[in-house]
Amino acid sequence: MTKSFILTIDVEIDAGRKWKTSNPATYEGVDKGIATLQRLCNDYGIKPVYLISPAVLVDQRSVDYLGSLDTTTCELGTHLHGEYIGPNAKYPGPDFSGCDPQEMQCQYEKEIEYQKLENLTNTFTSLFGYAPVSFRAGRFGARGWTIHCLEQLGYTHDTSVTPHRNWHDIADFSRPGSLSPYHPSTENICAKGQSHIVEVPVSITPNLEWLRPTPRFSNLDQCKTVIDWYEAHVTPTVLCCMFHNVELVPGKNPYCQTEEDCHELLHRIEGIFQVLQERNYQCHMLKEVTVEV
Ligand SMILES: [Zn+2]
Repeated sequence: MTKSFILTIDVEIDAGRKWKTSNPATYEGVDKGIATLQRLCNDYGIKPVYLISPAVLVDQRSVDYLGSLDTTTCELGTHLHGEYIGPNAKYPGPDFSGCDPQEMQCQYEKEIEYQKLENLTNTFTSLFGYAPVSFRAGRFGARGWTIHCLEQLGYTHDTSVTPHRNWHDIADFSRPGSLSPYHPSTENICAKGQSHIVEVPVSITPNLEWLRPTPRFSNLDQCKTVIDWYEAHVTPTVLCCMFHNVELVPGKNPYCQTEEDCHELLHRIEGIFQVLQERNYQCHMLKEVTVEV
């Protein structure tokens, strides 16, 4: 049985300790953070997917950098933080200095959620010259309707489901229908259904241990525990690891304040890559994942 690994990176504007955005707005997490990560990924044949927030798409330098990446070694997709894009944008931009993103798209009226996703998708397409097919909701705030919208907008893959987690009773994934990739229902994102979207859940155990090498989340031993648990309990084993680009730059995120913190994060990431290599994992872009029946 083949085992697969997907690396997903939420690409954000630089932020402070509680995700409030930098003031003035900066984007070091894009060029510095991603450059560091992509080098490491290239060494191990990992092909990350960079899921880009609308707060990053207003910055021409960031767009130029992301557009310059070799699309045979990584994938670009979208990541909705709905306060940064209309209709009804809480922060109209294009200057997103000192913003405090709190919204979850599953709380919008359905038509508003659709239009924000449509605007994000069209913005991506006009900037990069092709349509995105992979998506993650900001703060994991997706629902069945989100899947319907993504399908209408030409997406093929979503990675918003965080199994076993319940986010403030707003996005509740505490009863996951599958820990392997599946076609979700447009009524209930956790349940298997008839949509064409491939849902690739983030790897989280019933004990709420994440495959998330971020300081405060999982150290390398805990990441290995998650990998072992998935190998023992989930067939096919498809691991989905997540963190944010900004974590790779000191002081531009809530978790890594110093160079040492960032080195520790990189050490954990490389440690995961080494385990995958030893255990003969296949590494895929998100858009390449298929549902095994
Ligand atoms: Zn985000």
